[in-house]
Amino acid sequence: MELDTRAVHVFNEAFQEGSWPLSVPLVQSSAFAFSSADELAEAMAGPDGRYVYSRRGNPTVRALEQTLAGLEGGAGAIAFASGMGAISGVLLALLKPGDRVVAQRCLYGGTYAVLSDLAARYGIHVTYISGDDVAEFEAAAQHPATRLLVLETIANPTGQVPELPGLLAAARRTGVTSVVDNSLASPVLCRPLELGADVVVHSTTKYLSGHSDVLGGAAVFADDALRRAVWPRTVELGACADPFAAWLTLRGIPTLPLRMRAHCAGAAALAERLAARPDVTAVHYPWLAGHPSYATARKVLAGGGGGLLSFELAGGREAGRAFIEGVRVAKLALSLGGVESLVTHPASTSHRELDAEALAAAGIAPGLVRMSVGIEDVEDLWADIQQALDWG
Ligand SMILES: *Cc1c(COP(=O)(O)O)cnc(C)c1O
Repeated sequence: MELDTRAVHVFNEAFQEGSWPLSVPLVQSSAFAFSSADELAEAMAGPDGRYVYSRRGNPTVRALEQTLAGLEGGAGAIAFASGMGAISGVLLALLKPGDRVVAQRCLYGGTYAVLSDLAARYGIHVTYISGDDVAEFEAAAQHPATRLLVLETIANPTGQVPELPGLLAAARRTGVTSVVDNSLASPVLCRPLELGADVVVHSTTKYLSGHSDVLGGAAVFADDALRRAVWPRTVELGACADPFAAWLTLRGIPTLPLRMRAHCAGAAALAERLAARPDVTAVHYPWLAGHPSYATARKVLAGGGGGLLSFELAGGREAGRAFIEGVRVAKLALSLGGVESLVTHPASTSHRELDAEALAAAGIAPGLVRMSVGIEDVEDLWADIQQALDWG
């Protein structure tokens, strides 16, 4: 069945004969009662036995895991308390001191921070590559201790789309486990497991839940043996998904394909219009002709370039700050992937401590504005952007 259909008919375990609820029941219980000691002991053997304690497994959380595995084309999934919980959980479960990681240079800040910590405190070596060149990965993976390749389908805020098919095939050839953060594309635009990835991670906080009302994360595995190997470590870490958070995420998923189409259409239209304005010196959107990843993005992303775009204002730092304070429909906030449009200006918010030189080294122009395009009417968004630009 097509993804639009699979997203609506989420996994829903039968709990009674004859009739069953259309929406997945929220089982908020932390623990489950048994009538025999043997049954309880047996249930503790692995991830798929009867429910015992909700850090190890919960019916609502399992419904989300099965749904995400279905959408990504995976053998199984583990849901987490947040995207960072998923990323930390997978990295800690798969790495040991002395291992080497090859990672894309333009990574989500939190992922970069975890890798830096693992390098500084746990004896793990990290090599950064551009993500555009398979030979660069192959050279880095020559070292026999190379264990993981870490990539993102769409990087933020550059909109870079790495050469996923070539890199994932090369990782398979060299026996390196590949982990792809698919938060920005969602399974609607890309399913990295189908391109050869071993693990897909998500911040379900973003597009999958889509309504800016829940934090969550997930890891989806191509091979169920890997899920079973990672699971005990994640039970130890304890960054498990709360049943209500899983329920809210499941509440968002049926409309994911519809929302994704609206995010993509809005972002593409705004990217083109912004590029035509003389006070905008650059627009970064992977499906906009001229973007460095344009050819790869057309091949890797099906049906759209995503909902995130960024642009540089000729007026620099002051213009960027005036813009994010001048918008009225879009809101000034750091997240992305929700139904509402959000803007941020790294030079005066997340990166305000950096001087001009440090900003340049981080690849962030002083006038760079990031916009997560929501599902509002595109003419209302364009009017809002124009008044904020003219006012600034
Ligand atoms: C937001 C985000 C994360 C972190 O997810 P949280 O749910 O905030 O922990 C990881 N990767 C990407 C690409 C993100 O956008």
